[in-house]
Amino acid sequence: MKTICALILSLCFAVPAWAAPAAHHEVQVRLDPAMSTVVVKDQISVHGQGPTPFTLSSAFSITSLSVDGQAVSPLHKQGRLVIDLGSIGPHEISIATKATLSQKTQVPFLTAEGGYLGSNWLAHPGDRLATWTLNGQSPKGQKWLTEGRLVSESDTDMGYRARYNSTEHPSAPPTLITGPFEISERLDGDIRVRTYFHPELAPLAQGYLDDTVGYIQQASATIGPFPYPGFSIVSGPLPVGFGLPGMTYMGRRVLALPFIRSTSLPHEVLHNWWGNAVEVDYASGNWAEGLTTFQADLVQSARQNGDGGRAKRLEWLRNYAALPATSDQALSDFTSRTHDASQIVGYGKTAFVFHMLKKHLGADIFTRSLQHFYRTNAYKTASWSDLKAAFETVSGADLSAFFNAWVTQPGAPDLKLIDAKADGSKVTFSLSQSPAYPLDIPVRVRTQSGDQELSVRLNAPSQTFTLTAKDTVLGLSIDPNFDVFRRLTLGEMPPIFRDVTLAPDTQLVLVSQNPEVNTLARQLAEHLLQRPAQLQAAAGTAGPRLIIGLDSDIVPYLQGTPPPDADGRAYVVRDALGRATLFIMATDTHSLAGLGKVLAHYKRRSFVTFWAGKITDKGVSPVPASPLARTFNANGS
Ligand SMILES: [Zn+2]
Repeated sequence: MKTICALILSLCFAVPAWAAPAAHHEVQVRLDPAMSTVVVKDQISVHGQGPTPFTLSSAFSITSLSVDGQAVSPLHKQGRLVIDLGSIGPHEISIATKATLSQKTQVPFLTAEGGYLGSNWLAHPGDRLATWTLNGQSPKGQKWLTEGRLVSESDTDMGYRARYNSTEHPSAPPTLITGPFEISERLDGDIRVRTYFHPELAPLAQGYLDDTVGYIQQASATIGPFPYPGFSIVSGPLPVGFGLPGMTYMGRRVLALPFIRSTSLPHEVLHNWWGNAVEVDYASGNWAEGLTTFQADLVQSARQNGDGGRAKRLEWLRNYAALPATSDQALSDFTSRTHDASQIVGYGKTAFVFHMLKKHLGADIFTRSLQHFYRTNAYKTASWSDLKAAFETVSGADLSAFFNAWVTQPGAPDLKLIDAKADGSKVTFSLSQSPAYPLDIPVRVRTQSGDQELSVRLNAPSQTFTLTAKDTVLGLSIDPNFDVFRRLTLGEMPPIFRDVTLAPDTQLVLVSQNPEVNTLARQLAEHLLQRPAQLQAAAGTAGPRLIIGLDSDIVPYLQGTPPPDADGRAYVVRDALGRATLFIMATDTHSLAGLGKVLAHYKRRSFVTFWAGKITDKGVSPVPASPLARTFNANGS
């Protein structure tokens, strides 16, 4: 599944720097999903000369080709289609292609359960954007959609026909998706919001439409107008999920999960602005995943938990703390999620940096900066420098120190509270950090008449601050809501699965006498570690451990308190020396095998329990007492 996800992502997002002039396509497509066949006729208007490379999936064969009415032979150079346009000037290319696409595991594919033609199903001069008109038909019971504005459609016994125009903003070749869909629709002003769902999902359509309209309205109010004529949520046969211009494509089983409407859906809606309408200049780093995560995932988590996003930020810090230094990278080096470690920086840390920028500039300037960024970069490619320029233009501030510290270099400060003293309503404390970052640090002062929220600015390796509170000071808490991206100390972080799964020196301990159990244990370990597991060389060796077996095998090794009874359990503990051990146990081999499929989704947790293949409980152990907090006694010390 990963291959197809990666392949599709690279087709959709790895857009080269397009050069003018544009081209125009008039496409006729006939789809027969039951037979896995597609027939395409395309009239391409293009300005150019001489041999010109065209993109076209190798799954397609050319049945006829002419340039300006003259039949020509296609050339192939280094695996690419090349068409000789002749003398310089405008040219009309007529090309007909066909393909049989029955392999569901690779793009493009076309089957009765669903089809995804990616973006290379049309021959296209690869160095330019184009405008598009697409007419197509599919047999009765099968529907299709593509990017752009739906201008007409009919659904009769003769089949389904539709026409799309994409002429407002020249774009890369559009993706085409098919399936045995039931279509539901809601109009939000002039935005056409639709679901294209497999029949079993149809009862969920209204809920998806309601939520999508809400997310579009919120984001439009915050960022600027929705960039496309419509937005469609489309179900597919494979367990993938990603955003395309004006649509999101997700696995039919994924869409059925109850939490998707408040997690993946708002994220994919936000990608219309960030990543699609404003494209990413990948050479200088992918800012769009983090900005989308900040505006969708953090906002949703804050709403659900009523905590202003504290739990989500702690989760990001907790993940970062588990990241080995060798896997850390600068935000400007992140391009796409290739593995668990890159997600921690590209999604979590990047989103956190936007949170700090918002705290630094204030919500009003931050929002106006993003609006300015969107206005000036919509339908273009933008980089971190364009973001910095937008924030500097609107705020009038020089943000070089902030962007240098957070975007162009990896790492995080290690914040410490050195000493603290209270004297009546005054509190004096010293903070140190290594290395030195420009930090706005919230400080909560507990007084006799309640908590007071203050803040300090730390730019140096260490600094002493004195604050005056409104009443006698009883206690002090530095960064109580996790508003500063920093390295958590061992004392303030509960262990999570990633402490074991990301560590480069984790060893697998096979504890069963049953070879079948040990084979399952190796498979499960490889799935979680994203590499073959290294077996423990000798009992008592150092480093994180993964202990997998049946309940009866694991009993002699148990540490801590296992989660309550279940037929499958995973929990992580840290011993006095700081070593993390992840226990994965089940009552029988069937239950153990079942854990393999789901545990990878719970790496940010401290424990998960299962019954009959379903999650019954999950969570993160409570945060221990923070070393960044002090309580003062009567003499202020
Ligand atoms: Zn994303």
